[in-house]
Amino acid sequence: MTKTLDRITTTAQLPPSTSVVIIGGGIVGVTAALALAERNIPVVLLEKGHIAGEQSSRNLGWIRKTSRLADDVPLAQAADRIWAALPQRIGADVGYRQAGIMFLARTAEQMAMYEGWYQSVAHLSLDSQLLTPQAISQHVPGGQGQWLGGVYTPSDGRAEPALAATAIARGAIRQGAVMVQNCAVRTLSMSAGKVSGVITEQGEIRCDQVLFAGGAWSRRFLGNLGVQLPTLPLICSVLRTRPMEGPTDIAVGAPDFSFRKHKDGGFIITQRGKLDAPLTLDHLLIGWKYMAQLKAGRDNLRIGLGKEFFRDLGIARHWHAGQISPFEKIRTNDPAPNTGLNQDALTNLRNAWPVFANAEIEEAWAGLIDVTPDSNPVIDHIKAIPGLTVATGFSGHGFGTGPAAGQLAADLVSGVTPIIDPSPYRFDRL
Ligand SMILES: Cc1cc2nc3c(=O)[nH]c(=O)nc-3n(C[C@H](O)[C@H](O)[C@H](O)COP(=O)(O)OP(=O)(O)OC[C@H]3O[C@@H](n4cnc5c(N)ncnc54)[C@H](O)[C@@H]3O)c2cc1C
Repeated sequence: MTKTLDRITTTAQLPPSTSVVIIGGGIVGVTAALALAERNIPVVLLEKGHIAGEQSSRNLGWIRKTSRLADDVPLAQAADRIWAALPQRIGADVGYRQAGIMFLARTAEQMAMYEGWYQSVAHLSLDSQLLTPQAISQHVPGGQGQWLGGVYTPSDGRAEPALAATAIARGAIRQGAVMVQNCAVRTLSMSAGKVSGVITEQGEIRCDQVLFAGGAWSRRFLGNLGVQLPTLPLICSVLRTRPMEGPTDIAVGAPDFSFRKHKDGGFIITQRGKLDAPLTLDHLLIGWKYMAQLKAGRDNLRIGLGKEFFRDLGIARHWHAGQISPFEKIRTNDPAPNTGLNQDALTNLRNAWPVFANAEIEEAWAGLIDVTPDSNPVIDHIKAIPGLTVATGFSGHGFGTGPAAGQLAADLVSGVTPIIDPSPYRFDRL
């Protein structure tokens, strides 16, 4: 967990019934709770650990349209509007700044990728622009990296993951949502072929609908219900520096590092070119669905058979409502950061922008990411289980879109016109 995570106290009292139960207190679950509560729909959110304890507090805080698949951009545009209106809506500043995001290319292949992306979104009227090396130096002075060019979107931005989901949760509670932490949901209860409640470690709550927003646990939870959601895990390590002078307010992503300013004046840094990809049983079961991703990302993935394989093997895949579930056994996914990768990121960054020679590490952490075969999430009803909707599989870029994804999920649950066309997020495409 990051040292700066804002923690929230919630009720310990489980209500006997409600209209909608949301499982998972990440950015997606809490924004869905806010949207439902604002519509006066009774909603209870259950979190096995604490609000934002997993991915939603551990991410880099980038809020971007850049480099998204074209059909994922409308969700990001909707999210930009929600982020901008959030301080007024919830009465808290979560560090949202439209300070811009820039990606840099060293090789012709990398540049061709950004040019291809730029063309793929030409119809969407974004403010993105391709950059020359001179333009990069103007935007981010003091560098000595050799760049072929890049892509820059001034309206992209950032917010503080250590604040955002908790602040949204507080806003939702003020609007009438009930939230209970340390309360794992084991499974659903069904009557007459549809959802009629959830079975938690503390007992049952009856409800009409369930929204599952369980992040990296989704495959496990849904698998126990006979619903096969393909996701594989990746681990991303991150460090935060002490406050220091930096070259820019823009978030910058190079092939082998990235940095963005933190609200306290330090920088959040990662090795963008290397992610740990621990092998698990799921790689054998569904790895074939990921061939295109593996081909494209083979230089960036540190695929390894290690202790994670056996840890994962020890986590149950099937249980019944009367049994202790994996969600009670592991309250918070807290992988150890890879210090080698963090050092590598810092070295690469110092070579490119020597001002980072002064960087001192304040803290480091890691987070486990749930990746779908096409890197888009699923936000959809599960037809096989009437009354169940899921919003999950955000594949390492769901913090930025989280508020719109939560809203879209709330729209689906409450049957109103969805905030955007949900078809890119259909479950049956996977
Ligand atoms: C290191 C790192 C860097 C990233 N950088 C970025 C970035 O810069 N920009 C960006 O857009 N995205 C980024 N991401 C991705 C982003 O953090 C996620 O896509 C997003 O936070 C997902 O939100 P979520 O609500 O789906 O999941 P989570 O935040 O993981 O929340 C799911 C919650 O559900 C709970 N839960 C699961 N099962 C149960 C159960 N049965 N009962 C009760 N509770 C349950 C879990 O405890 C968890 O708290 C990054 C991720 C990581 C790890």
